[in-house]
Amino acid sequence: MNTSRSTTLYREASAILPGGVDSPARAFGSVGGRPLFMDRGEGARIVDVDGNSFVDYVLSFGPLILGHAPTELTSALHQTAVRGTSFGAPSELETELARRIQAFMPSIEMLRFVNSGTEATMSAIRLARAFTGRDKVIKFKGHYHGHADLLLVETGSGVATLGLPNSPGVTAAAAADTLVLPYNDLHAIDRCLGAHGRETACVIMEPVAGNMGVVPPRKDYLEGVRGLTRDYGALLLFDEVMTGFRVHPGGAQTLYGVQPDLTALGKVIGGGLPVGAYGGRRDIMEMVAPLGPVYQAGTLSGNPLAMTAGVVTLDALAQPGLWDRISRTTIEIENAIACAAGEQGIPIQQTRVGTMFCTFLTDTPIIDFDSVARVPSERFATFFRGMLESGVYLPPSQFEACFVSAAHGPTEVDATYRAASAAFASLT
Ligand code: PLP
Repeated sequence: MNTSRSTTLYREASAILPGGVDSPARAFGSVGGRPLFMDRGEGARIVDVDGNSFVDYVLSFGPLILGHAPTELTSALHQTAVRGTSFGAPSELETELARRIQAFMPSIEMLRFVNSGTEATMSAIRLARAFTGRDKVIKFKGHYHGHADLLLVETGSGVATLGLPNSPGVTAAAAADTLVLPYNDLHAIDRCLGAHGRETACVIMEPVAGNMGVVPPRKDYLEGVRGLTRDYGALLLFDEVMTGFRVHPGGAQTLYGVQPDLTALGKVIGGGLPVGAYGGRRDIMEMVAPLGPVYQAGTLSGNPLAMTAGVVTLDALAQPGLWDRISRTTIEIENAIACAAGEQGIPIQQTRVGTMFCTFLTDTPIIDFDSVARVPSERFATFFRGMLESGVYLPPSQFEACFVSAAHGPTEVDATYRAASAAFASLT
Protein backbone atom coordinates (compact mmCIF):
# COMPACT_ATOMS: atom_id res chain seq x y z
CA MET A 1 0.00 0.00 0.00
CA ASN A 2 1.44 3.37 -0.99
CA THR A 3 1.20 5.84 1.88
CA SER A 4 3.89 8.30 0.80
CA ARG A 5 1.67 11.40 0.83
CA SER A 6 0.35 10.51 4.31
CA THR A 7 3.94 10.09 5.48
CA THR A 8 4.86 13.55 4.20
CA LEU A 9 1.79 15.17 5.75
CA TYR A 10 2.43 13.38 9.03
CA ARG A 11 6.01 14.68 9.13
CA GLU A 12 4.80 18.22 8.47
CA ALA A 13 2.01 17.95 11.03
CA SER A 14 4.35 16.53 13.68
CA ALA A 15 6.51 19.64 13.47
CA ILE A 16 3.63 21.77 14.71
CA LEU A 17 0.96 19.49 16.24
CA PRO A 18 1.98 17.26 19.18
CA GLY A 19 2.28 13.76 17.77
CA GLY A 20 0.92 15.05 14.44
CA VAL A 21 -2.68 14.64 15.62
CA ASP A 22 -5.32 16.60 17.49
CA SER A 23 -6.59 13.65 19.52
CA PRO A 24 -4.34 10.82 20.73
CA ALA A 25 -6.75 8.00 19.74
CA ARG A 26 -6.03 8.87 16.09
CA ALA A 27 -2.31 8.09 16.36
CA PHE A 28 -1.17 4.61 15.41
CA GLY A 29 1.11 4.37 18.46
CA SER A 30 -0.05 1.00 19.77
CA VAL A 31 -0.44 -0.65 16.35
CA GLY A 32 2.81 0.57 14.78
CA GLY A 33 3.25 2.84 11.80
CA ARG A 34 1.98 6.33 11.19
CA PRO A 35 -1.58 7.60 10.99
CA LEU A 36 -3.11 7.87 7.54
CA PHE A 37 -4.27 11.31 6.49
CA MET A 38 -7.77 11.27 5.06
CA ASP A 39 -8.94 13.05 1.97
CA ARG A 40 -12.64 12.29 2.02
CA GLY A 41 -15.41 10.04 3.26
CA GLU A 42 -18.00 8.45 0.99
CA GLY A 43 -20.79 6.45 2.62
CA ALA A 44 -19.21 3.45 4.36
CA ARG A 45 -15.72 4.27 3.09
CA ILE A 46 -12.89 6.67 3.74
CA VAL A 47 -10.24 7.50 1.21
CA ASP A 48 -6.76 8.62 2.24
CA VAL A 49 -4.58 11.22 0.54
CA ASP A 50 -2.75 8.49 -1.41
CA GLY A 51 -6.04 7.26 -2.88
CA ASN A 52 -6.34 4.12 -0.70
CA SER A 53 -10.00 3.37 0.04
CA PHE A 54 -11.13 1.58 3.21
CA VAL A 55 -14.35 0.21 4.66
CA ASP A 56 -14.59 2.46 7.72
CA TYR A 57 -15.44 1.09 11.17
CA VAL A 58 -14.20 4.19 12.99
CA LEU A 59 -16.83 6.58 11.63
CA SER A 60 -15.21 9.45 13.49
CA PHE A 61 -15.33 7.30 16.66
CA GLY A 62 -19.08 6.87 16.49
CA PRO A 63 -21.01 9.94 15.35
CA LEU A 64 -21.47 9.06 11.67
CA ILE A 65 -24.37 6.63 12.02
CA LEU A 66 -25.65 7.64 8.56
CA GLY A 67 -22.20 7.15 7.02
CA HIS A 68 -19.90 9.77 5.52
CA ALA A 69 -21.36 12.87 3.92
CA PRO A 70 -24.94 11.73 3.27
CA THR A 71 -26.58 14.07 0.78
CA GLU A 72 -29.50 14.99 3.04
CA LEU A 73 -27.04 16.15 5.68
CA THR A 74 -24.60 18.04 3.46
CA SER A 75 -27.38 19.90 1.64
CA ALA A 76 -29.11 20.80 4.93
CA LEU A 77 -25.77 22.08 6.27
CA HIS A 78 -25.30 24.20 3.19
CA GLN A 79 -28.74 25.72 3.54
CA THR A 80 -28.05 26.55 7.18
CA ALA A 81 -24.50 27.84 6.61
CA VAL A 82 -25.49 30.44 4.06
CA ARG A 83 -27.86 31.97 6.64
CA GLY A 84 -25.11 32.32 9.24
CA THR A 85 -23.00 29.87 11.22
CA SER A 86 -23.48 31.23 14.73
CA PHE A 87 -25.46 34.04 16.30
CA GLY A 88 -24.66 34.14 20.00
CA ALA A 89 -28.44 34.26 20.31
CA PRO A 90 -31.02 31.48 20.42
CA SER A 91 -32.37 29.86 17.28
CA GLU A 92 -35.36 27.58 16.82
CA LEU A 93 -33.10 24.69 15.80
CA GLU A 94 -32.00 24.19 19.43
CA THR A 95 -35.56 23.51 20.55
CA GLU A 96 -36.10 21.32 17.48
CA LEU A 97 -33.15 19.09 18.29
CA ALA A 98 -33.93 19.06 22.02
CA ARG A 99 -37.48 17.84 21.30
CA ARG A 100 -36.18 15.07 19.07
CA ILE A 101 -33.71 13.90 21.71
CA GLN A 102 -36.44 13.91 24.32
CA ALA A 103 -38.70 11.81 22.09
CA PHE A 104 -35.99 9.12 22.00
CA MET A 105 -35.04 9.45 25.68
CA PRO A 106 -37.99 10.46 27.83
CA SER A 107 -35.86 10.54 31.02
CA ILE A 108 -34.47 13.80 29.62
CA GLU A 109 -37.05 16.33 30.76
CA MET A 110 -34.77 19.29 30.09
CA LEU A 111 -31.36 19.56 28.48
CA ARG A 112 -28.51 21.93 27.71
CA PHE A 113 -26.40 21.79 24.54
CA VAL A 114 -22.64 22.09 24.77
CA ASN A 115 -19.85 21.49 22.25
CA SER A 116 -18.35 18.12 23.19
CA GLY A 117 -18.87 15.02 25.27
CA THR A 118 -16.19 16.25 27.66
CA GLU A 119 -18.15 19.40 28.37
CA ALA A 120 -21.33 17.39 28.81
CA THR A 121 -19.96 15.06 31.51
CA MET A 122 -17.97 17.79 33.24
CA SER A 123 -20.99 20.09 33.42
CA ALA A 124 -23.33 17.31 34.50
CA ILE A 125 -21.03 16.50 37.41
CA ARG A 126 -20.88 20.11 38.52
CA LEU A 127 -24.67 20.06 38.48
CA ALA A 128 -24.87 16.77 40.39
CA ARG A 129 -22.57 18.17 43.07
CA ALA A 130 -24.60 21.35 43.34
CA PHE A 131 -27.92 19.49 43.50
CA THR A 132 -26.83 17.01 46.17
CA GLY A 133 -24.48 19.31 48.07
CA ARG A 134 -21.94 16.46 48.02
CA ASP A 135 -18.43 16.24 46.53
CA LYS A 136 -17.52 12.63 45.75
CA VAL A 137 -17.94 11.07 42.33
CA ILE A 138 -17.75 7.35 41.62
CA LYS A 139 -16.50 6.19 38.22
CA PHE A 140 -15.42 2.84 36.81
CA LYS A 141 -12.03 1.62 35.71
CA GLY A 142 -11.64 1.76 31.93
CA HIS A 143 -14.65 4.03 31.41
CA TYR A 144 -13.80 7.22 29.56
CA HIS A 145 -15.82 10.37 30.07
CA GLY A 146 -13.68 12.92 28.25
CA HIS A 147 -10.66 14.73 29.58
CA ALA A 148 -11.90 16.89 32.46
CA ASP A 149 -9.41 16.68 35.33
CA LEU A 150 -11.62 14.92 37.85
CA LEU A 151 -12.55 12.21 35.33
CA LEU A 152 -9.08 11.56 33.96
CA VAL A 153 -8.43 8.81 36.48
CA GLU A 154 -7.95 5.19 35.36
CA THR A 155 -9.82 5.80 32.13
CA GLY A 156 -10.13 3.89 28.88
CA SER A 157 -9.75 5.00 25.25
CA GLY A 158 -6.54 6.83 24.29
CA VAL A 159 -5.38 7.00 27.91
CA ALA A 160 -5.48 3.20 28.19
CA THR A 161 -3.94 2.83 24.72
CA LEU A 162 -0.97 4.92 25.82
CA GLY A 163 -0.69 2.84 28.99
CA LEU A 164 -1.16 5.87 31.22
CA PRO A 165 -3.07 5.13 34.43
CA ASN A 166 -3.57 8.84 34.96
CA SER A 167 -2.40 12.08 33.41
CA PRO A 168 0.31 14.37 34.77
CA GLY A 169 -1.16 17.80 35.28
CA VAL A 170 -4.22 16.50 37.09
CA THR A 171 -3.67 17.68 40.64
CA ALA A 172 -4.20 15.37 43.59
CA ALA A 173 -6.86 17.82 44.73
CA ALA A 174 -8.77 17.60 41.43
CA ALA A 175 -8.88 13.81 41.61
CA ALA A 176 -9.25 13.50 45.39
CA ASP A 177 -13.02 13.16 45.28
CA THR A 178 -13.06 10.68 42.40
CA LEU A 179 -13.47 7.08 43.55
CA VAL A 180 -12.66 4.40 40.96
CA LEU A 181 -14.27 0.96 41.05
CA PRO A 182 -14.19 -2.13 38.84
CA TYR A 183 -17.03 -2.24 36.29
CA ASN A 184 -19.57 -5.05 36.35
CA ASP A 185 -18.97 -5.74 40.04
CA LEU A 186 -22.05 -4.92 42.09
CA HIS A 187 -20.39 -5.88 45.37
CA ALA A 188 -17.70 -3.26 44.80
CA ILE A 189 -20.19 -0.43 44.44
CA ASP A 190 -22.29 -1.75 47.31
CA ARG A 191 -19.22 -1.65 49.57
CA CYS A 192 -18.12 1.76 48.32
CA LEU A 193 -21.51 3.35 48.79
CA GLY A 194 -21.71 1.70 52.19
CA ALA A 195 -18.58 3.64 53.16
CA HIS A 196 -19.07 6.88 51.19
CA GLY A 197 -22.71 6.85 50.06
CA ARG A 198 -23.76 9.94 51.99
CA GLU A 199 -20.86 11.98 50.55
CA THR A 200 -21.39 10.79 46.96
CA ALA A 201 -22.91 13.25 44.50
CA CYS A 202 -23.15 10.82 41.62
CA VAL A 203 -22.10 7.61 39.99
CA ILE A 204 -21.03 8.26 36.40
CA MET A 205 -20.80 5.32 34.03
CA GLU A 206 -20.87 4.19 30.46
CA PRO A 207 -23.89 1.88 30.73
CA VAL A 208 -22.29 -0.23 28.02
CA ALA A 209 -18.54 0.30 28.25
CA GLY A 210 -17.23 1.36 24.85
CA ASN A 211 -13.82 2.81 25.59
CA MET A 212 -12.15 -0.47 26.48
CA GLY A 213 -13.52 -2.21 23.44
CA VAL A 214 -17.21 -2.99 23.89
CA VAL A 215 -18.03 -4.55 27.25
CA PRO A 216 -21.76 -4.99 27.97
CA PRO A 217 -23.12 -4.81 31.50
CA ARG A 218 -23.78 -8.10 33.26
CA LYS A 219 -27.38 -9.11 33.71
CA ASP A 220 -29.08 -6.98 36.39
CA TYR A 221 -25.92 -4.88 36.94
CA LEU A 222 -27.41 -1.57 35.83
CA GLU A 223 -30.60 -2.20 37.80
CA GLY A 224 -28.40 -2.93 40.82
CA VAL A 225 -26.45 0.31 40.43
CA ARG A 226 -29.73 2.21 40.01
CA GLY A 227 -31.15 0.72 43.20
CA LEU A 228 -28.03 1.40 45.25
CA THR A 229 -27.62 5.01 44.09
CA ARG A 230 -31.25 5.65 44.98
CA ASP A 231 -30.78 4.10 48.43
CA TYR A 232 -27.93 6.49 49.19
CA GLY A 233 -29.40 9.60 47.55
CA ALA A 234 -26.61 9.73 44.95
CA LEU A 235 -27.53 10.64 41.38
CA LEU A 236 -27.03 8.15 38.57
CA LEU A 237 -25.37 9.78 35.56
CA PHE A 238 -25.35 7.70 32.40
CA ASP A 239 -22.65 8.80 30.01
CA GLU A 240 -24.38 7.91 26.74
CA VAL A 241 -22.05 10.04 24.62
CA MET A 242 -21.15 6.85 22.78
CA THR A 243 -24.08 4.52 23.49
CA GLY A 244 -26.81 7.08 22.75
CA PHE A 245 -28.61 6.05 19.52
CA ARG A 246 -25.98 3.34 19.02
CA VAL A 247 -26.93 0.47 21.36
CA HIS A 248 -30.63 1.27 20.86
CA PRO A 249 -32.33 4.34 19.36
CA GLY A 250 -33.22 5.30 22.93
CA GLY A 251 -29.75 4.54 24.28
CA ALA A 252 -28.74 2.01 26.92
CA GLN A 253 -31.34 3.43 29.29
CA THR A 254 -34.11 2.27 26.95
CA LEU A 255 -32.43 -1.00 25.99
CA TYR A 256 -32.01 -2.08 29.62
CA GLY A 257 -35.02 -0.19 31.02
CA VAL A 258 -32.98 1.67 33.64
CA GLN A 259 -33.70 5.35 34.11
CA PRO A 260 -30.79 7.58 35.13
CA ASP A 261 -31.23 10.95 36.82
CA LEU A 262 -28.90 12.64 34.33
CA THR A 263 -27.62 11.70 30.88
CA ALA A 264 -24.61 13.00 28.95
CA LEU A 265 -24.79 12.89 25.16
CA GLY A 266 -22.54 13.71 22.20
CA LYS A 267 -21.39 12.05 18.98
CA VAL A 268 -24.58 10.92 17.10
CA ILE A 269 -26.65 13.92 18.23
CA GLY A 270 -24.24 16.13 16.27
CA GLY A 271 -24.15 13.93 13.16
CA GLY A 272 -20.40 14.57 12.81
CA LEU A 273 -20.32 18.19 13.95
CA PRO A 274 -19.00 19.23 17.37
CA VAL A 275 -21.78 18.86 19.93
CA GLY A 276 -22.63 17.52 23.34
CA ALA A 277 -25.60 17.78 25.69
CA TYR A 278 -26.53 16.98 29.23
CA GLY A 279 -30.00 16.63 30.57
CA GLY A 280 -32.36 14.73 32.79
CA ARG A 281 -34.78 15.35 35.64
CA ARG A 282 -36.42 18.74 35.48
CA ASP A 283 -35.88 19.46 39.19
CA ILE A 284 -32.14 18.98 38.68
CA MET A 285 -31.85 20.79 35.34
CA GLU A 286 -33.71 23.81 36.74
CA MET A 287 -30.54 24.53 38.73
CA VAL A 288 -28.62 25.37 35.52
CA ALA A 289 -27.97 29.08 34.86
CA PRO A 290 -29.74 31.34 34.00
CA LEU A 291 -32.71 29.49 35.55
CA GLY A 292 -30.65 28.46 38.57
CA PRO A 293 -27.26 29.18 40.11
CA VAL A 294 -25.06 26.48 38.50
CA TYR A 295 -22.97 28.31 35.93
CA GLN A 296 -22.20 26.80 32.57
CA ALA A 297 -21.93 28.55 29.21
CA GLY A 298 -20.55 28.27 25.68
CA THR A 299 -19.87 30.73 22.82
CA LEU A 300 -20.81 28.21 20.12
CA SER A 301 -23.23 26.05 22.14
CA GLY A 302 -26.32 25.15 20.14
CA ASN A 303 -24.85 26.65 16.96
CA PRO A 304 -27.07 26.25 13.89
CA LEU A 305 -24.72 23.96 11.98
CA ALA A 306 -24.37 21.38 14.75
CA MET A 307 -28.10 21.56 15.48
CA THR A 308 -28.92 21.04 11.80
CA ALA A 309 -26.68 17.98 11.57
CA GLY A 310 -28.31 16.60 14.71
CA VAL A 311 -31.86 17.20 13.45
CA VAL A 312 -31.13 15.52 10.10
CA THR A 313 -29.49 12.55 11.82
CA LEU A 314 -32.23 11.99 14.38
CA ASP A 315 -34.95 12.41 11.75
CA ALA A 316 -33.29 9.67 9.73
CA LEU A 317 -33.12 7.43 12.80
CA ALA A 318 -36.81 8.05 13.45
CA GLN A 319 -37.65 6.41 10.12
CA PRO A 320 -39.15 3.01 10.84
CA GLY A 321 -36.67 0.22 10.25
CA LEU A 322 -33.52 2.24 9.63
CA TRP A 323 -31.84 1.62 12.97
CA ASP A 324 -32.87 -2.07 12.91
CA ARG A 325 -31.25 -2.42 9.52
CA ILE A 326 -27.95 -0.96 10.80
CA SER A 327 -28.12 -3.30 13.76
CA ARG A 328 -28.72 -6.31 11.46
CA THR A 329 -25.76 -5.30 9.29
CA THR A 330 -23.64 -5.12 12.46
CA ILE A 331 -24.61 -8.73 13.27
CA GLU A 332 -23.66 -9.79 9.73
CA ILE A 333 -20.28 -8.08 10.03
CA GLU A 334 -19.71 -9.70 13.41
CA ASN A 335 -20.63 -13.10 11.92
CA ALA A 336 -18.32 -12.56 8.94
CA ILE A 337 -15.38 -11.87 11.27
CA ALA A 338 -16.28 -14.85 13.47
CA CYS A 339 -16.50 -17.09 10.41
CA ALA A 340 -13.07 -15.96 9.14
CA ALA A 341 -11.55 -16.51 12.61
CA GLY A 342 -13.12 -19.97 12.87
CA GLU A 343 -11.76 -21.00 9.48
CA GLN A 344 -8.25 -19.94 10.49
CA GLY A 345 -8.54 -21.50 13.95
CA ILE A 346 -8.01 -18.17 15.72
CA PRO A 347 -9.78 -17.91 19.10
CA ILE A 348 -11.67 -14.65 19.50
CA GLN A 349 -14.25 -13.09 21.79
CA GLN A 350 -16.77 -10.82 20.15
CA THR A 351 -18.97 -8.32 21.86
CA ARG A 352 -21.75 -6.35 20.24
CA VAL A 353 -24.59 -4.17 21.43
CA GLY A 354 -26.76 -2.68 18.68
CA THR A 355 -24.55 -0.93 16.13
CA MET A 356 -21.22 -1.12 17.95
CA PHE A 357 -18.99 -4.15 18.26
CA CYS A 358 -15.52 -5.32 19.11
CA THR A 359 -13.32 -8.30 18.34
CA PHE A 360 -10.90 -9.37 21.08
CA LEU A 361 -8.10 -11.73 20.12
CA THR A 362 -8.42 -14.00 23.12
CA ASP A 363 -10.35 -17.05 24.30
CA THR A 364 -10.90 -15.54 27.75
CA PRO A 365 -14.30 -13.91 28.43
CA ILE A 366 -14.24 -10.11 28.51
CA ILE A 367 -16.04 -8.65 31.50
CA ASP A 368 -14.06 -5.66 32.72
CA PHE A 369 -10.98 -3.53 32.11
CA ASP A 370 -8.54 -6.06 33.55
CA SER A 371 -9.77 -8.79 31.20
CA VAL A 372 -9.29 -6.42 28.22
CA ALA A 373 -5.85 -5.35 29.41
CA ARG A 374 -4.73 -9.00 29.46
CA VAL A 375 -5.29 -9.38 25.70
CA PRO A 376 -1.79 -9.30 24.12
CA SER A 377 -1.53 -5.93 22.36
CA GLU A 378 0.89 -7.27 19.72
CA ARG A 379 -1.76 -9.68 18.42
CA PHE A 380 -4.23 -6.85 17.96
CA ALA A 381 -1.55 -4.78 16.20
CA THR A 382 -0.91 -7.61 13.71
CA PHE A 383 -4.65 -8.04 13.12
CA PHE A 384 -5.12 -4.29 12.68
CA ARG A 385 -2.32 -4.05 10.11
CA GLY A 386 -3.65 -7.08 8.22
CA MET A 387 -7.12 -5.53 8.03
CA LEU A 388 -5.71 -2.19 6.90
CA GLU A 389 -3.61 -3.80 4.16
CA SER A 390 -6.79 -5.55 2.99
CA GLY A 391 -8.86 -2.37 2.86
CA VAL A 392 -10.60 -2.24 6.26
CA TYR A 393 -10.00 0.64 8.65
CA LEU A 394 -10.45 -0.40 12.29
CA PRO A 395 -9.89 1.87 15.28
CA PRO A 396 -6.14 1.74 15.91
CA SER A 397 -6.42 0.28 19.43
CA GLN A 398 -7.90 -2.75 21.18
CA PHE A 399 -9.43 -0.26 23.64
CA GLU A 400 -11.83 1.22 21.08
CA ALA A 401 -15.21 0.15 19.68
CA CYS A 402 -16.04 -0.44 16.01
CA PHE A 403 -19.08 1.37 14.58
CA VAL A 404 -21.43 0.57 11.71
CA SER A 405 -23.53 2.99 9.67
CA ALA A 406 -26.60 3.01 7.43
CA ALA A 407 -24.22 3.11 4.46
CA HIS A 408 -22.72 -0.30 5.35
CA GLY A 409 -24.32 -3.24 3.56
CA PRO A 410 -23.63 -6.59 1.91
CA THR A 411 -20.65 -5.24 -0.08
CA GLU A 412 -18.93 -4.17 3.12
CA VAL A 413 -19.83 -7.44 4.85
CA ASP A 414 -18.13 -9.39 2.04
CA ALA A 415 -15.12 -7.08 1.97
CA THR A 416 -14.76 -7.44 5.74
CA TYR A 417 -14.93 -11.23 5.53
CA ARG A 418 -12.16 -11.30 2.91
CA ALA A 419 -10.00 -8.84 4.86
CA ALA A 420 -10.49 -10.72 8.12
CA SER A 421 -9.55 -14.03 6.47
CA ALA A 422 -6.28 -12.49 5.31
CA ALA A 423 -5.64 -10.72 8.64
CA PHE A 424 -6.30 -13.85 10.74
CA ALA A 425 -4.08 -15.88 8.39
CA SER A 426 -1.22 -13.53 9.27
CA LEU A 427 -1.71 -14.48 12.94
CA THR A 428 -1.34 -18.23 12.45
N1 PLP B 1 -17.89 10.05 27.06
C1 PLP B 1 -17.74 8.96 26.30
C2 PLP B 1 -18.44 7.69 26.68
C3 PLP B 1 -16.94 9.01 25.16
O1 PLP B 1 -16.79 7.91 24.42
C4 PLP B 1 -16.30 10.21 24.84
C5 PLP B 1 -15.43 10.30 23.66
O2 PLP B 1 -15.04 9.33 23.06
C6 PLP B 1 -16.49 11.32 25.67
C7 PLP B 1 -17.31 11.21 26.76
C8 PLP B 1 -15.84 12.62 25.35
O3 PLP B 1 -16.44 13.18 24.22
P1 PLP B 1 -15.64 14.29 23.36
O4 PLP B 1 -14.51 13.56 22.71
O5 PLP B 1 -16.68 14.80 22.41
O6 PLP B 1 -15.18 15.32 24.32
